[in-house]
Amino acid sequence: MRLKIVQVGEPVLRQRARPVLAEEIALAETQQLIAWMRETMLDAPGVGLAAPQVGLPLQLAVIEDRPEYTRDIPADRLAERERKAVPFHVLFNPHIVERSEQNVEFFEGCLSLAGYSALVKRSHHVTVEYLDEHGEARRLEAQGWYARILQHEIDHLYGRLYIDRMESRSFMSTENLSRYWKDVPIPSLRKALGIDDPE
Ligand code: ZN
Repeated sequence: MRLKIVQVGEPVLRQRARPVLAEEIALAETQQLIAWMRETMLDAPGVGLAAPQVGLPLQLAVIEDRPEYTRDIPADRLAERERKAVPFHVLFNPHIVERSEQNVEFFEGCLSLAGYSALVKRSHHVTVEYLDEHGEARRLEAQGWYARILQHEIDHLYGRLYIDRMESRSFMSTENLSRYWKDVPIPSLRKALGIDDPE
């Protein structure tokens, strides 16, 4: 079943989601929810989906970056973003236990702000602890685009959206991003958008 993805302004997107107990993870209804979230993410399509985005204030996110999503993206663009395929996986109660001081800045979007994008700085790499779909404690290290996806999804579980962290002058429709800016290097783009200008 495809679930409805709620849009910005929906109260649940601004709430802190509640942690899920290991015994709840084992329930058939939780496993069903995981399957539905996976289907909803694939259908969107998106590379991550957090439970608040389908209206549920639970600390649960699913992530998958499929090879076919990046087939038409030039290799140099993928290399710059350090974007590689990520297999499907499930995170309950994730938290970032370590993050790099080094930040990287790229455009990102969100299924709950459909049609828009903005520049967002994120840590280049993160270490995350979480429970998997069996309720087992896990720890992962990620860098590049995968680290960005994790930070974006974990933000959702705390009621945060990328617009809280974005460079506001870079906020634009994804259509205009492709039309005008997609091949512009970030430093030139910052200049053209007046981001570094004094007030
Ligand atoms: Zn999002």
